[in-house]
Amino acid sequence: MDMNRHEFELDDLIERIKDNDNRLVALQVPEGLKMQALEMMDAIEEDTSARIILAADPCYGACDLVHDKMQRMGVELVAHMGHSQMNIDSGMPTEFINVTYDGDPAIDPVLPILSAHREIAQKRLSESLNESEMSEEEAQERFMDAVGRVSPLKGAKLGLVGSIQHLHLIFDYKERLESAGFEVEVPVGGARLSFPGQVLGCNYSGDSDEIGHYLFLGSGDFHPIGLVLHTGKPLAMLDPYTGGAEEMSFQRIEGILRQRFGLIMSCDQAKTFGILIGEKPGQMRRNLALRMKRKLEKHGRKGYLLALEHVGPELIDFYPVDAFVNTACPRIAIDDSVRYAKPLLTPFELEVVLGDKKWETGYKFDEIP
Ligand code: SF4
Repeated sequence: MDMNRHEFELDDLIERIKDNDNRLVALQVPEGLKMQALEMMDAIEEDTSARIILAADPCYGACDLVHDKMQRMGVELVAHMGHSQMNIDSGMPTEFINVTYDGDPAIDPVLPILSAHREIAQKRLSESLNESEMSEEEAQERFMDAVGRVSPLKGAKLGLVGSIQHLHLIFDYKERLESAGFEVEVPVGGARLSFPGQVLGCNYSGDSDEIGHYLFLGSGDFHPIGLVLHTGKPLAMLDPYTGGAEEMSFQRIEGILRQRFGLIMSCDQAKTFGILIGEKPGQMRRNLALRMKRKLEKHGRKGYLLALEHVGPELIDFYPVDAFVNTACPRIAIDDSVRYAKPLLTPFELEVVLGDKKWETGYKFDEIP
C-alpha cells in the first residue's frame, strides 16, 4: 500500500480551529493510518495556534468517538479521521476528516466473477422455496449454506459498495460496470451510514431484494464477510491498493457458520451468562442487553450485565459463568471468538439457544441500525 496516495482533507479542520480559536484539539486516527499521525499533528500545529493531543488508544470506527475523558483533559474539539459521522452523539464537538485513496483499478479482472455471480442470482430469483414446508433438518442445512439461504429476491442487480476511502469513485465504477453490461445499484443505507454505497462491519442496511450479488471496492475481508453473512448473496472484491480481484469463498462463510452453529449447540445446557455492554458511544446497546437478561430469566437461566470500554478475553474469561452474550461491537463475537475460552454469542444466537428463534429464518447477522 502506497501511503502517499492517501489524501487527508485537513483544510476544513484547520479553518474550524481558526474560526473557533480552539487551543486544545484531540486527533483520533484509525489503526491503519497511525504511522502518519505525527506528521498530521505537525501540519495542524503549524497552521493553527492549537495544540494537538493524539488519542492513541485503538480506534476502529466512528462508534468509538473520543468522549468525556478528553473533555475532562480540557479538549475543545475532536478531529476524527477516516470514518464518517454516525447517528450518535459523543457529547463532544467533532470534525470528521475525509481520507480518500486515489487507486483506480481496472474492472477487467473482476468481470468473470461478476458474470458467474449474476448467474447464481438469476437462478435463485427463478427458484421459489417454501419456507413453511421445510423440515428442521433442512432448515439446519440451510443455516449452514449462506449462499443458498432464504432471501426474498425480486431482482438480480449488482450491488456496488465500498469502504469509505474509495467511495469517491463509486459512481464512476457504476458507469464502467453498466458499460460492461451489468445492471448496477449503489445501495443507500440508514442513519448509521453517511454515503451511498457505504458499508460498515456492523451495518449493511442498504441491502435490498432487488440486489442479487455484490461487488465490494476495498481491501481485506472484514466488510465482505459481514455483508455475505448478512445477505447470503455472492460477493466479489476489487482491491484498489493492488488491482486484484477475488470472490468471498462460500467455504469461508460456511466455516464461520459451522463455528457459530457449534457455539450455539455448546450453550444448550448453559445456565449462567455474562451479558457484555459496550461503553463506546456507538456500540452501547443497553436496551438490547436488558432484553437479553429478561429473556434468560424467562427461560430459567441467569444473566449478569458487564459494561466494558474494550472487550478482550483477559477482561472476561475469568468470570464464573458458562458463556457470554455480546451486545458491543457485533464483530467481536464473529471475528474473535476463538480467542475466548468460553462461548461468546451474539443476541440472535442466544435466542436460538433459548428456542425463541428458529433455523428457518437463516442466520441473522447482528446489525447495529
Ligand atoms: S463494526 Fe464494530 S468497530 Fe466497526 S463501526 Fe461497527 S461497532 Fe464500530
